[in-house]
Amino acid sequence: MAIERTFSIIKPDATRRNITGKIITKFEEAGLRVVAQRRIKMTTEQAESFYGVHRERPFFNDLVAFMTSGPVVVQVLEGENAVARNREVMGATNPADAADGTIRKEFAESIEANSVHGSDAPETAAEEIAFFFKDEEVVG
Ligand code: GDP
Repeated sequence: MAIERTFSIIKPDATRRNITGKIITKFEEAGLRVVAQRRIKMTTEQAESFYGVHRERPFFNDLVAFMTSGPVVVQVLEGENAVARNREVMGATNPADAADGTIRKEFAESIEANSVHGSDAPETAAEEIAFFFKDEEVVG
């Protein structure tokens, strides 16, 4: 399996509790390397555009409000099979369903405030990386 990149967000519930380092440790222990990172406050326009696929879902407005409620850390993670490996270490969307040892099992507060975002496929990863980072900001 070739080296791959995926896009990650450490969400506002995690920055608020000052556990970004604990989450990054989980990525590193899973063989993922942080090759780009920036702490930002997402605008409503950015969050609406980023989560555009969920626009028709009943939780869309709540999700946008949550994602703009505090700082987030946007990241590019690199490693073998990075998209799938990141999804594994994140755990299920709902922390009640997440496996032991996953980030969401250990840290998520709820199905919405679930500490991390990770791309769901290599094509989405490329789009999401380009949404937040210029090529020269990603240093592998
Ligand atoms: P993910 O790929 O595991 O992040 O899950 P989805 O793409 O299905 O959902 C995107 C994000 O929307 C999740 O990470 C949650 O923050 C939020 N979300 C998903 N389902 C629900 C829900 O039923 N209620 C609420 N309030 N938020 C949700």
